[in-house]
Amino acid sequence: SDKKRVAILGATGSIGTQTLDVIKSNLDKFEVEVLTAQNNADLLVQQAIEFQPNCVVIANESLYEKVRDALAPLDIKVYAGEKALAQVVEMDTIDLVLTALVGYSGLIPTIKAIESGKQIALANKETLVVAGELVTKLARQKGVNIYPVDSEHSAIFQCLAGEFHNPIEKIILTASGGPFRGKDRKFLETVTKAQALKHPNWDMGAKITIDSASLMNKGLEVIEAKWLFGINADQIEVIVHPQSIVHSLVQFEDGSIKAQLGLPDMRIPIQFALSFPERIKSDFPRFDFVQYPNLTFEQPDMETFQNLRLAFDSLERGGNAPCILNAANEIAVAAFLREEIGFLEMSDLIATSLEKVDFVKQPSLQDFVETDKLTRIVTKELIKSKI
Ligand code: NDP
Ligand code: MG
Repeated sequence: SDKKRVAILGATGSIGTQTLDVIKSNLDKFEVEVLTAQNNADLLVQQAIEFQPNCVVIANESLYEKVRDALAPLDIKVYAGEKALAQVVEMDTIDLVLTALVGYSGLIPTIKAIESGKQIALANKETLVVAGELVTKLARQKGVNIYPVDSEHSAIFQCLAGEFHNPIEKIILTASGGPFRGKDRKFLETVTKAQALKHPNWDMGAKITIDSASLMNKGLEVIEAKWLFGINADQIEVIVHPQSIVHSLVQFEDGSIKAQLGLPDMRIPIQFALSFPERIKSDFPRFDFVQYPNLTFEQPDMETFQNLRLAFDSLERGGNAPCILNAANEIAVAAFLREEIGFLEMSDLIATSLEKVDFVKQPSLQDFVETDKLTRIVTKELIKSKI
């Protein structure tokens, strides 16, 4: 068949389930080859029954029997564990791997997928934050395209269509500003997990929702943009746009700026990453100017939201600094979600971790693995000494 055969890593999450929505409406074009989950065995089984993949992986090994027994009557292979996650992407029946795992866990499976020549639809931005140079170099060597799923990067990618030979002067990444836009540090000292989890425009997984509230998400996206589009940090500008309609912009050398617009609906960038270079007719709700008489833009407040500054700084430093930033952030966000630390302490922990963990200028993959491990230990120690 000429259907595109897709592996979805993180099928049970926000991006994963929306990817399956897109595929469900286009079963003449796509076929699900692999589905993976971490803990949500029930949903994984339900998805497997509906989409009949070749195999599924449950990353949490203690849930293996449960998934195997539930799928026993069907012709679907069941694997478990982190290693299996990195192995299934090598299957030669896969055309494209959509990476929708959270955080560092996406790195090794994505590298394995690229090494075996699979096209990538990348939602897991942390992969490029941790090891952007290594991953994009490998992709070039293997002739693999990395199609962005992140809405801002999809916007830029769409603006670049037909312009790939034209140099970019500047990329303008839009940010919603999150639920705490306009607030001061005094206010942020006491905000709760529940307040931080209420995003004004997007319904996403917990980690990225906290990252959006702290502006770390935009910092990670700056790093992601650098590697995806091969530009320098000083060519990337962040602008706050609370309505989340203009998804990002590209300025070319003649001064012309192109933007991509639409309602905040992740199915649009997900579908474009799956269908590129084609567009598929959809029934997603349409944007209407009547409902948005005011599209506004303002400067980000990097004094209050220090994560954005920390991300720019670590990108400038290069080497393993963004890897340290990412690992410290993952530990800090998890601690905030357990209500062990306050909102502002997340930035403090990241800044201190960046000072404490040894800098490596030209890290190998092994160096990244070790930096990630070590940073987690350092950040956890810092949290322990606080609580
Ligand atoms: P979710 O938390 O909703 O989903 C994450 C998925 O990955 C789930 O299927 C989860 O399994 C699985 N998973 C989590 N941790 C691990 C692990 N350690 N090993 C294996 N599998 C794991 O996240 P999102 O869908 O919101 O985000 C996914 C990625 O996409 C992130 O990198 C995020 O930054 C990016 N992104 C998300 C956007 C959004 O709108 N949600 C927008 C732009 C980017 P289970 O649920 O079974 O435990
Ligand atoms: Mg985004």
